[in-house]
Amino acid sequence: MSTYGRRDFLKAGAAAAVAASFPLLPGCATTPSGARVVVIGGGFGGATAAKYIRLWDPSIDVVLVEREPGFTSCPISNLVLAGYASMREISHGYDGLRAHGVQVVQDEVVAVDAAKRTLRLARGGDLGYERLVVSPGIDFMYNEIQGYEPAMQAGGVLHAWKAGPQTEALRAQLEQMRDGGVYALSIPLAPYRCPPGPYERVSMVAAYFKQAKPRSKVLVLDANPDVTSKGGLFKRAWADLYKGLIEYRGNAKAIGVSPGAIRLEVEDVKADVLNVVPPHRAGDIAVKAGLITHNNRWCEVDWRSMESKKVPGIHVLGDATLSAPGMPKSGSMANNHGKIAAAAIVELLRGRAPEPQKIINTCYSFVSQKEAIRVSSVHQWDGKTLTPVKGAGGVSPARSEAEASFAWNWARTIWADSVG
Ligand SMILES: Cc1cc2nc3c(=O)[nH]c(=O)nc-3n(C[C@H](O)[C@H](O)[C@H](O)COP(=O)(O)OP(=O)(O)OC[C@H]3O[C@@H](n4cnc5c(N)ncnc54)[C@H](O)[C@@H]3O)c2cc1C
Repeated sequence: MSTYGRRDFLKAGAAAAVAASFPLLPGCATTPSGARVVVIGGGFGGATAAKYIRLWDPSIDVVLVEREPGFTSCPISNLVLAGYASMREISHGYDGLRAHGVQVVQDEVVAVDAAKRTLRLARGGDLGYERLVVSPGIDFMYNEIQGYEPAMQAGGVLHAWKAGPQTEALRAQLEQMRDGGVYALSIPLAPYRCPPGPYERVSMVAAYFKQAKPRSKVLVLDANPDVTSKGGLFKRAWADLYKGLIEYRGNAKAIGVSPGAIRLEVEDVKADVLNVVPPHRAGDIAVKAGLITHNNRWCEVDWRSMESKKVPGIHVLGDATLSAPGMPKSGSMANNHGKIAAAAIVELLRGRAPEPQKIINTCYSFVSQKEAIRVSSVHQWDGKTLTPVKGAGGVSPARSEAEASFAWNWARTIWADSVG
């Protein structure tokens, strides 16, 4: 674990001198005294870090490299599947970040040279940095599920676990499915992005079927032994609102897909719509940058600064990190990671040690169009890592319309805070 002693600041200063000698991207001016921070990924973690570095020190030159033209939110995307929200509502541009002076470059980072403190862009050209923030989200381990990639290319299976074209495709498949058909959702073993997300999806698809295709069925094939988050509240909602519509099977790990069927360890299960979420790991660029430290999947960080435990000068955020104890992979957390990194980078570039922060996570889940449930937790530095504060947080006592209204407000607030 890094200790942030005087030697680190001297190293940071030397690195600054190295990075300054690298050519700038055309159109990417830097302030004369400004250090340059490059951020990879304009999702909840990266966008927040880019914005808050500029807010807290406008002399720092911040370049955000994002491969997509805009930000599409996974939170609320399950409501799109039910027809309760639109793609337009979950899609946001990066003009808010530009207004804060962040230089947004639409491109893909294909390589990182941590020794030289440069990165390579897919469209050509290298970019130098003094500190790099890597918030690439997740990529999928398709080879863990036999036949997945060809089936996905043929449109026979979707994950819709990155909001965007697959969200729209899944909505279309649900609309086209016959009444009396089966929608199957396969959930990977934890840890995965958004612990309650799959069960919210189950609720949303069941709500749609109840209203539009009441003879249909939602089949949940969960690799975990039981519902991994807000279990009591979800099961109560399913029993009260969707009796006979949902069949839940625990310990049901998908190992393959073929046309119209999901292979489990013991049998093949047929369904009309296959929604199989493969196991995932930190996004590809984290692998290429040599940031993976745990289980070939996740990146360990110093939770006071989000700095990689393996590669100095690189801060890793969001779903790509090896989660601290009791910490979910969530947009709420990634947004907090962005602020921890922003504060730490501003301090480190000024030659000061970062202060540990206390952070809060809140995850809302809709169980019907009008009702939602919530889980929250508080995490604080214990001298080694961030750990949940005992007695702080918890789950909502029951589903309610008030929680649904809080959920929409939470979403609008975090979108504005991250990319606004
Ligand atoms: C269905 C669903 C529902 C969810 N609901 C909630 C919720 O209600 N509340 C909540 O808190 N969380 C929720 N989440 C989880 C949340 O979406 C993630 O935890 C969050 O997006 C993680 O943020 P991130 O910055 O790590 O990654 P992301 O938000 O995925 O951002 C990563 C970005 O990096 C870009 N990128 C990757 N590699 C490169 C590269 N090489 N070059 C350039 N750009 C690159 C990607 O294009 C992407 O824009 C949900 C997730 C799902 C799937």
